[in-house]
Amino acid sequence: MTQLSNQTAIITGASSGIGEAIAHRLADQGANVVLAARRSERLQELSADIEKQYGTKAKVVETDVTNKEEVENLVKEAYDSFGSVDIFVNNAGVMLLSFLKNDHVEEWEQMVDVNIKGVLYGIHAALPTMLEQGSGHMINVSSVAGHEVFPSSTVYSATKYAVKALSMGMEKELASTNVRVTNISPGAVDTELTDHITDDDVLEMFKDRSMTPLNAEDIAAAVTYAVTQPKNVNVNEVIVRPLNQS
Ligand code: NDP
Repeated sequence: MTQLSNQTAIITGASSGIGEAIAHRLADQGANVVLAARRSERLQELSADIEKQYGTKAKVVETDVTNKEEVENLVKEAYDSFGSVDIFVNNAGVMLLSFLKNDHVEEWEQMVDVNIKGVLYGIHAALPTMLEQGSGHMINVSSVAGHEVFPSSTVYSATKYAVKALSMGMEKELASTNVRVTNISPGAVDTELTDHITDDDVLEMFKDRSMTPLNAEDIAAAVTYAVTQPKNVNVNEVIVRPLNQS
């Protein structure tokens, strides 16, 4: 019997990086996992790997988190399949770093849509079920950039400060319920996140960057720590950054 046996964990952004690593870790702890993202082929491969490795169920629900109805459907499918929604990991995100002077306004909008509205839709879709159940755990993935603003991270940081504010507000509002809230703030992690940056000045700046990033598993370990504490322990904030990231 592992710590999360019979629990259902929904993970957004499970098709790569941190979300994929979280799905592995939670399944390893015995949870049935519901995998959400847009790239469903990658989710199908992950689902097969998880079911083979850990013997738990891994359900795929193709979801664009910027679409409210799709996120509602994600939670409904999870509940209909497994009968509860115990953990919801609001992990899907984009980091389209750019300098304001370069005016990447469509990318600003995309970050607001995925990083803020996507998280709000996750709360909207999952929280009522958790309140009705009288238990649940919302994990919101913010960032070190949700605590500090770096050159070119202005808009990304604005979205991640918003995630932190949502976590803090939920923590206060839900303190008298049995719904726990954890805000996870990673520093640099080796994933596909930076592949989508288009600002030439940022790409040039990154050439001189000498830092050894964390692995996605380092963040998944922090999530696992939070969700496996005794039920009265509410781990509200975890900041994890590489030793050599200032
Ligand atoms: P990846 O790019 O590897 O993963 C991002 C995930 O988000 C993918 O699974 C992607 O899936 C999903 N996603 C993006 N847009 C949407 C959308 N509209 N609907 C549904 N899913 C979407 O990066 P990471 O694993 O690094 O990022 C995960 C989280 O961690 C993000 O919130 C990020 O901001 C945060 N973070 C990452 C850090 C890092 O250094 N890597 C540092 C701090 C925070 P798909 O494209 O298939 O839809």
